[in-house]
Amino acid sequence: MNNRKIRVRFAPSPTGPLHMGGVRTALFNYLFAKKNNGSFILRIEDTDQTRYVEGAEDYIIESLKWCGIQIDEGIEEGGSYGPYRQSDRKEIYKEIAEKFVETGNAYFAFDTAEELEAMRESLKNEKNSVQQYNALTRESMKNSLTLSEEETEAKIQSGEPYVIRFKMPENEDIVVEDIIRGTVKVNTNQLDDKVLFKSDGMPTYHLANVIDDHLMKITHVIRGEEWLPSLPLHVMLYRALGWEKSMPEFAHLPLLLKPSGKGKLSKRDGDALGFPVFPLEWTDPKTGEVSRGYREDGYFPEAFVNMLALLGWNPGTEQEIFSMRELIAAFDITKVQKGGARFDPEKAKWFNHKYLVARSDEKLARLFQKELKEKGIIVDDAFVIKIVQLIKERAHFVSDFWEQSSFFFQAPKAYDPKVIKKRWKEHTPALLTELKERFEALENFNHDSMNKVVQEIIEEKEIGMGQIMNPLRLTLVGAGIGPGVFEIAELLGKEETLKRIQAGIDHIKK
Ligand code: GLU
Repeated sequence: MNNRKIRVRFAPSPTGPLHMGGVRTALFNYLFAKKNNGSFILRIEDTDQTRYVEGAEDYIIESLKWCGIQIDEGIEEGGSYGPYRQSDRKEIYKEIAEKFVETGNAYFAFDTAEELEAMRESLKNEKNSVQQYNALTRESMKNSLTLSEEETEAKIQSGEPYVIRFKMPENEDIVVEDIIRGTVKVNTNQLDDKVLFKSDGMPTYHLANVIDDHLMKITHVIRGEEWLPSLPLHVMLYRALGWEKSMPEFAHLPLLLKPSGKGKLSKRDGDALGFPVFPLEWTDPKTGEVSRGYREDGYFPEAFVNMLALLGWNPGTEQEIFSMRELIAAFDITKVQKGGARFDPEKAKWFNHKYLVARSDEKLARLFQKELKEKGIIVDDAFVIKIVQLIKERAHFVSDFWEQSSFFFQAPKAYDPKVIKKRWKEHTPALLTELKERFEALENFNHDSMNKVVQEIIEEKEIGMGQIMNPLRLTLVGAGIGPGVFEIAELLGKEETLKRIQAGIDHIKK
């Protein structure tokens, strides 16, 4: 590593919502930057106007904010190397692309789609294994290498559509070290003359990306594995531009794999198995289709970030729970794995559970209160705090709270028939009546005093504890779920508990 100040960039294209794999790329860039006292730059790569999607840019920015990934330089933040949106940098690319032609590293090409297709067809017929625009074919195509200077000039002047292609040198070995993948070696004969600039006045991804990384003084390019095939071309561009000495280092991150471990994680997997693949909910501006998001599904951003950080990287210890600060301290880009990282939706929930139980009861109660208010339920915070204490161990999300605790707020309207069948015996009403009378006599109605009463009854009657506890739960909850029965009763209070026992006796029929 050199002594330059570390500068990394996350460079998404606003072609739709950011996939969780994209968020992981942003996160790894951020962790690497902060670990090394460097800067994290957000650059919007919107040169492909045909793929531009309304709202995607805002979505990307909002997603990073939600995750707590702070942008040092970007569209909103500004910075000394702007503008940070490629469509605002058109002039820069045009000038460099044209200079590139002048120096002989690139050329104008006028071939139509049909002509390109015909070239591929004839190569195929000649049984050539590669059919591309390259050193072998460029001489027989319509470009500024085969046309005279005047002809070329005339075509451009007349407005004939053209592209600028890179003149890939012949038979050169490109060797480059990737921080994660090691040595990458490719011979230029395997590469084609890539389009660098299009007739719509926009550069292609490759040219704009390399120019911007250079001009923005990026020291490390950390991106997804899908860009690895572009790496040799990028290296050649740095060479041809005379920028090889200050070329950034590269790290290509492993793919995120489906829960089955086979193939790349896609939105379809999420839809099929019921988990989000996007950080935030997204509404497609064209179709109106809504895709779920981690935020709206009730994930805490810290849990989402923690889970993502461990997809493809681990600290080499048993530790799994990391705050952002801890991640920054522990992160080591050289420990990122080469192989794909399998995504496990159950593990994602587990992370959320861990963050949920670590939240203070007061905070959780405040979150739950919002939902209760929406339901028109007005209760004191103290009551909700006590409920949260009882149920949080069983919840993955705050949205699970209602299902785990609705019986605290409303007496059962029905009783689970399966539980009745299994737990409600002929002698149960008499037993519960007795229990109710003894409860009624208690001065201090709490867990211990109730327990004592039940112990006495089971000893006197020589019966198992379950014969009382299961039907008692059924009368209080209406089902066989929930935390400890005495805890429930204590929170409900004596009056409500007695009422519910009586209602159960009156209404539960085998
Ligand atoms: N615009 C590219 C993308 O959408 C950036 C790739 C890179 O980081 O070089 O992922």
